[in-house]
Amino acid sequence: MGGSVVDLLAQFIEDRYDAPSSDYTGLEPLLTRLAAHPPATGTDLPALLDLVGQAAAKGFDTAGPGFVGYIPGGGLYASALADLIAGVINRYTGLAAPAPALVQMEASVLRWLCDTFGMPPGSQAVLTTGGSMSTLSAVVAARTARLGEDFRGACLYVSDEVHHCVAKAAQIAGLPADALRVVPTDEHLRLDVPALRAAIAADRAAGRRPFMVVASAGTINTGVVDPLDAVADVAAEQDLWFHIDGAYGGLFQLTARGRLALGGIERADSIVLDPHKGLFLPYGTGCLLVRNGELLRAAHDVHAHYLPQPSDDPGLPDFSSYGPELTRDFRGLRLWLPLHLHGTQAFVDALDEKLDLARWLHAELAALPSLEVADGPDLSLVAFRPRTGDADALLARINGIGRVWLSSAPVRGRTFLRMCVLSHRTRRDRLEEAVGIIKSALDD
Ligand SMILES: *Cc1c(COP(=O)(O)O)cnc(C)c1O
Repeated sequence: MGGSVVDLLAQFIEDRYDAPSSDYTGLEPLLTRLAAHPPATGTDLPALLDLVGQAAAKGFDTAGPGFVGYIPGGGLYASALADLIAGVINRYTGLAAPAPALVQMEASVLRWLCDTFGMPPGSQAVLTTGGSMSTLSAVVAARTARLGEDFRGACLYVSDEVHHCVAKAAQIAGLPADALRVVPTDEHLRLDVPALRAAIAADRAAGRRPFMVVASAGTINTGVVDPLDAVADVAAEQDLWFHIDGAYGGLFQLTARGRLALGGIERADSIVLDPHKGLFLPYGTGCLLVRNGELLRAAHDVHAHYLPQPSDDPGLPDFSSYGPELTRDFRGLRLWLPLHLHGTQAFVDALDEKLDLARWLHAELAALPSLEVADGPDLSLVAFRPRTGDADALLARINGIGRVWLSSAPVRGRTFLRMCVLSHRTRRDRLEEAVGIIKSALDD
């Protein structure tokens, strides 16, 4: 079984370079076939793997080198092997006592991440399934620490460019709808700090209770970084929980240029990271760092007598005490194995390459007179629109070639096409091809 699966995967990876960047042909009959209930008697593995291969070919190819839509994910093979191992050994890592050495492996990677962001001793990180779940735990920790059980008049400040996972987290966390206070962005689409101050002052004057501010380390639409240091100053003056959404851009902190762009990130009370974006890992790998780990624990921890003795060693935590889950996959190995196998410098180099590629791409597109190109990339996202003609039609022509796949975003009511360079498979050759495709799509 293992041999046939590895054969399928090796072929899948090889095929990525020639596979169409999007394919919806023959979808209906395949969907009908796949809607069947599982049979009472088994089926041969090769036939089933063939079906998996067919299903994986449909849709837009988020694993291919041409994928620059939304925020690209990764899918490092070593990480997938780690998942295979984790599933087969199936040890219990929701608590420290059942598998202390495996928990140590996960804790060591989390400590490395905390150190990377200058988090002090006493900070705590957890691995989640993604940025949205991490944001939920951050909002719940901030809510518990700053509001207790009375949510009336609560105010959580975000910019109008923030990812919708913050609104979703606030909703699930039981905050009233009007707790989300949306602050405008400046002409560069960064959170407007004077407007933030004004909103907080007006809310305080009305007797409301400001408790949290969220800044983005790389926004979803145009990839800009909010003025993190200035927001940190406001949070400190106003005694607000300072949260940073670094799901897209946070992990550029590993690079020297990233540390410059993200200055102030080390002052956050909590930071969301998505290793399934910035560390090129498979989907399902999110992370939350919290400056005061005790506040994260206080918001999530409930003990039951039928469980083993709770861990009293902060270096070897019960992960279930710091998040909503009890039983979960041993997700630490999907970071530990690739980081130890390739070494951290390989990740730094890959992230630096993405920064270089985005700068090169920005210069190429800015040189085309028929395009309006947004400001130079803070990180690795380039947004642009045609000066004349319809942006959606241009997007359809570009994606229709089948070699690259872009997405679009509304910016101040106008549609921009956007290319985010983050996949480990996206290299210079494919981006050169992309520029050629954009040029001829503009001429059509
Ligand atoms: C991806 C992303 C999220 C949401 O993370 P998921 O892993 O998709 O849940 C939040 N914020 C930003 C900026 C993102 O790029």
